[in-house]
Amino acid sequence: MKILMIGAHQDDIEFRAGGLTHKYVQMGYEVRFLSLCNGCGGHHIMTPAETTARRAKESAAVAKLLGVRYDVWEDMNDCTLMPTLENRRRLIRYIREFSPDLIISHRSNDYHADHRAAGILIQDASYMLIVPHECPDVPAMKQTPVIMYYEDGFADPDFRADIVLDMDAENDLKLQIAHLNVSQVYEWLPFTKGYEAEVPDNEEERFEWLKGPYKITPESTDEEILKANRGGSGYDLHNAQTASRFRKELIARYGKERGAKIRYAEAFQVCPYGGALTEELNEKLFGF
Ligand SMILES: [Zn+2]
Repeated sequence: MKILMIGAHQDDIEFRAGGLTHKYVQMGYEVRFLSLCNGCGGHHIMTPAETTARRAKESAAVAKLLGVRYDVWEDMNDCTLMPTLENRRRLIRYIREFSPDLIISHRSNDYHADHRAAGILIQDASYMLIVPHECPDVPAMKQTPVIMYYEDGFADPDFRADIVLDMDAENDLKLQIAHLNVSQVYEWLPFTKGYEAEVPDNEEERFEWLKGPYKITPESTDEEILKANRGGSGYDLHNAQTASRFRKELIARYGKERGAKIRYAEAFQVCPYGGALTEELNEKLFGF
């Protein structure tokens, strides 16, 4: 199976679906990441060109750790992505050339204009993938791939967790992935949220800080986890909150005993404009 994960920005992909990616790579599936923007806007000290170069290096490290190919639209600056015909056609060509069985990306209701544009571009591209006279220079696909959305916390309408997957075995790896996005998790995001001064200099201390002040124990309840303070970073809590948020769905999928114990999860919503998630595809894509 071939899987395409699209993000408006680099870390959007690995933070939301790094665990699923790892599972797919272990199963021998080919996973490709595509960031539609080059990351140039994500720093307060470095110039846009310096930030783009640094983000490219960080993404290369993530790609190596996960065993995926990581493509970036290097000419697309952050905060400039628009759902234009030109970008739609560029995306159609890219998707057709790889010809994935599954695409995962953002919903179009999201706080960030680039995320919204990415969501709309994928929805707009979805049907055209099979239309031969659209972008005739690249052969049309025989069928539309399954398309899904990453989890988000936005309302009107709320994110719907159609597929929620156990990521207990992947959580340490996900924390490592966050740790590789140095310019974001230790510099840019702390700056935007006003806790820059909290970030330790020492690498080991930094990694502890990244996990966050709230320590998850076997006694932690879902209510507690959902209410707990992430502090300056709190990636461990963040990953745990998905399981707590969608406990009902986890129990429905894994049964009462296992479903109740899962600590970390990733959740996805089916996009209505993608190909049908048949029983056979569901088994291949999520039957683990
Ligand atoms: Zn983003």
